[in-house]
Amino acid sequence: MADELISYEPATGAELWRHETSDVDAEVAAARGGWAHWAAQPLAVRVETMRRFANVVRQRAEAFADLIARETGKPLWEARTEVDTVMAKVDISVTAYAERTSQRRLDAPMNTRMALRHKPHGVLAVLGPYNFPAHLPNGHIVPALIAGNAIIFKPSEKTPAVGAFLIDCYHAAGVPKECARLVIGGPEQGKALAGHDGIDGLLFTGSASTGIALNRQFANRPEKILALEMGGNNPIIVWDTPDLHTAAVLIIQSAFTTAGQRCTAARRLIVQDALYGGLIGTLNTMVGRLIVGAPHDDPQPFMGPVIDNQTADMLTESYLALLMNGGRAIRHPQRLRDDRPFLAPGIIDVTAMADRPDVELFGPILQVIRSDDFDSAIAEGNNTRYGLSASLISQTPALYDRFWSGIRAGIVNWNRPTNGASSAAPFGGIGWSGNHRPSAFYAADYCAYPVVSNEADAARATLGIGLRDA
Ligand code: NAD
Repeated sequence: MADELISYEPATGAELWRHETSDVDAEVAAARGGWAHWAAQPLAVRVETMRRFANVVRQRAEAFADLIARETGKPLWEARTEVDTVMAKVDISVTAYAERTSQRRLDAPMNTRMALRHKPHGVLAVLGPYNFPAHLPNGHIVPALIAGNAIIFKPSEKTPAVGAFLIDCYHAAGVPKECARLVIGGPEQGKALAGHDGIDGLLFTGSASTGIALNRQFANRPEKILALEMGGNNPIIVWDTPDLHTAAVLIIQSAFTTAGQRCTAARRLIVQDALYGGLIGTLNTMVGRLIVGAPHDDPQPFMGPVIDNQTADMLTESYLALLMNGGRAIRHPQRLRDDRPFLAPGIIDVTAMADRPDVELFGPILQVIRSDDFDSAIAEGNNTRYGLSASLISQTPALYDRFWSGIRAGIVNWNRPTNGASSAAPFGGIGWSGNHRPSAFYAADYCAYPVVSNEADAARATLGIGLRDA
């Protein structure tokens, strides 16, 4: 008998959902049987179906947001913004398909035509993370379906209920059942799906360690598309700015929104020496006022719990390790309830640490580094194997020019948070943050491959040279 996967609400510990783990072979077989028919539909049919999907989500928006809030622990206000993003993805993906992978006529030799068209890969597996359990997989799935692929989606084992809800919305909109399949399970099912001969590619969002394992698994499968969207160890630099209050707000938004569980969250604050005292004081006071609470609390909290107790324990231990290795506490992270993963933010000055670990602490822990020279601050920002997002808070345009050219990341912002990226732009990073297959607006690129055709209405050819007389 198959195992059961049970999902619990982080905020309460209550059981939310349970389901048997899936038979990966059966799901792949179903998708293989269905995709060719979907791919053969006119594009307009697929686009129309996805527009219906947006409407289905709109009709179910409140139930969807409630489920996301319960299963992730994020506040209801934030879960609602996730649902909005899911709906908005359709129009953006239709535009992206047209702009990035539509048909085009190219210059061709006399009396012939050259056409550039795109074809879907076939069956694409999608592996999702828990922090945006609807928005991020949907960011792969909608473009993949528009392009004519079938998808097999395995949500995170921590958020399977949201995954099941999302798949049901595609079906309710008219996406053929065989073309949007659900795999319930954890890493074991993920590995089986990724290694299955019946898939034509894998679209992954998750941690660098899993992404690297998948990259290895795909090493001898060059024929399959592999898109990896991974984590970050993102810097935010504050330099030459008069408004410390606003700087502190931007730092809080960057580091602690979604309880720090965003791939683009600021993990490292690099501060100009001269601003240090004032900025850290303002930041610390403001962080002390943040409400950490359950998703449906009234008034609404700024942030909820992290995903589970094990993650909260790991974050607290990582903070203690920094402390024991030369870090200086600015604000201890506080476990607000022993039995639940509510973790109030921690801030630690790691300037004096000799070897700072280059790891992504996926939660509300911010490391601070002081600097007295702007070039050194940029070098410090680049002192990571990752390269997802980076921000500069400064009033000086010339500093932004230097920052923009010197910093290595796929998202480089000025006087804006490190997170909150727009779906209407490409989204991805360098280094360990991805494998150069950016998502969001550029997702269209990895959902189809280009086919070039040289075409003429009638066969006509002559050998003009190199022939003996008849
Ligand atoms: P994770 O890597 O643990 O899991 C992601 C998915 O992969 C899950 O569905 C999981 O079951 C599956 N999986 C785990 N091990 C596997 C294996 N060996 N083979 C196949 N599948 C496997 O990630 P997570 O903890 O769910 O999510 C948090 C991470 O995701 C963070 O590192 C965060 O930065 C990253 N993330 C990246 C982006 C981005 O777009 N770049 C966005 C959100 C989150």
